Amino acid sequence: MKEAVLWHKEGDRLRCDLCGRRCLIADGALGVCLVRKNIDGKLYSLNYGRLVALHVDPIEKKPLFHFQPGSFTFSIASAGCNFACRFCDNYDISQVYRDRKLEQVLGEEYTPEDVVNQALSEGCRIISYTYTEPTIFFEFAYDTARLAHEKGIKNTFVTNGYMTPEAVKMIAPYLDAATVDFKCSGDPDCYKKIIGVPDVAPIYECLIEMKKQNIFIEITNLVIPGFDDEMSSFKNLVKRIRDNLGDEIPIHILRFFPAYRFSDIPETPLESLRKTYEIARKEGMKFVYLGNVPGQGENTYCPSCGELLIERFGLMMSRNRLKGDKCPKCGTKIPVVI
Ligand code: SF4
Repeated sequence: MKEAVLWHKEGDRLRCDLCGRRCLIADGALGVCLVRKNIDGKLYSLNYGRLVALHVDPIEKKPLFHFQPGSFTFSIASAGCNFACRFCDNYDISQVYRDRKLEQVLGEEYTPEDVVNQALSEGCRIISYTYTEPTIFFEFAYDTARLAHEKGIKNTFVTNGYMTPEAVKMIAPYLDAATVDFKCSGDPDCYKKIIGVPDVAPIYECLIEMKKQNIFIEITNLVIPGFDDEMSSFKNLVKRIRDNLGDEIPIHILRFFPAYRFSDIPETPLESLRKTYEIARKEGMKFVYLGNVPGQGENTYCPSCGELLIERFGLMMSRNRLKGDKCPKCGTKIPVVI
């Protein structure tokens, strides 16, 4: 347990300013994420240093296709989440406090030094805060990311994008890249009904702050059958991304597979994924990928001359033909962090 960052007093309660929910928390109560508690007028992060997952992954698995392609990243997570997605793949660690009404904190204890040393001993020059929402273990991620930078290690978040601008500003000096995950194309109704999130506006505020802070961004969108089948929300999402973040932001269109409380919903038809892909390309996005469809839509092509630049299969890079960050055929600069 550690005193939390980003909160203030409002009357006899505490306002948490870490994520867009901005919970107002009474003495002795928890926030919606169930890992931040008001104890005697101070807000505490209950899960500081308590990790439930530590793995080495290809960076492409986050997915980050344009950030140090072909690298491996040391990936960590704490239990809990500020969202309650009914289709979560990692529900056993993200929803565990909600589902099992658990009061004790899960996970082995680690220090930031432990994580950084383990990343180095695994030969990783990147640490990813992932699997669950990094915002809910922000204090530990912050301390680890700061130490990682001192050792020359980069940091990436895989996030639902619900961090407040204050949180983005705080982590920005140590956060090199972020994968921001949309579900159902950011449709507000879907977020209300199946994610338990009242408002999608904080996601856009977070993205705009990330761009301001020069954090490298890639976007994912999970396409769930039965939601946004007409793809109007997706069109709006792409336009918003293009107009606010630019047409070079990589977009990953992810196939849904039945999971958790959505085990009776079929996987996304390939046809829908292809149509979604075409919409993103038609709206001018230069780097559009398919996810969870090994061997399809994973390669990077030069937007100027069409040359194949990076080949991938099943979220692993197999060949990189870039010359530095340029197309080997026409010399176009490609937005890739190397
Ligand atoms: S992180 Fe979000 S969900 Fe958790 S207490 Fe703070 S505002 Fe509430």
